[in-house]
Amino acid sequence: MQLTEKIKLAIIKGVFERGIFDAKRLMEIDSKKGEFTISGIRSIIVGTLDFAVLHEAAEKLAGNAGPAILRAQGEKVGRIEARKAWRKNMKRFNLSFDVRTVLSTLPAIYAAVGWGKIITTGINMKTGEGTLIIRNCFEADAILELRGEKEKPQCYFVTGYLKGLFGGITGKKFQVTETKCKAAGAEYCEFKITTGRESV
Ligand SMILES: [Zn+2]
Repeated sequence: MQLTEKIKLAIIKGVFERGIFDAKRLMEIDSKKGEFTISGIRSIIVGTLDFAVLHEAAEKLAGNAGPAILRAQGEKVGRIEARKAWRKNMKRFNLSFDVRTVLSTLPAIYAAVGWGKIITTGINMKTGEGTLIIRNCFEADAILELRGEKEKPQCYFVTGYLKGLFGGITGKKFQVTETKCKAAGAEYCEFKITTGRESV
């Protein structure tokens, strides 16, 4: 039977939501080697406050370049995960590797791994452009806890990550700007996502 895109999405959605993405199935602990992998990617578990510590260090050592460094880190991570983790998992479920499929499963997956509650209703599912909201974003909460409320949006890593992720999926150049941030007094973090020739 040929599965339509809609059925495929329903299947993957069901798998992820019912099993809370069943993250455990993708995690492997090799206690002999002392290695931990998620989807075959060597990983470690770190506390979210480490991100706030990184913010502090980057600002202290690099000044105004600090946020750019954190965004660059996020972008590279997003790009790697798009190609290695997302592409691989979409293939495993026989799903197409595109913005629509990734966005359909993104909220369930990232909620399961503790990044926050992602809301994609403001995003164009075909192009990836629009407004993405994250409630309880881990980066904002970490900054709030360690450093207190800030004047400007703080989720540099997540901003870069989204750019890298969408870019890695589509091969296009995306621009992502955090327009509201919980660490800067907003109710949630909001990211404006566009494609085009704008330089970053
Ligand atoms: Zn934020």
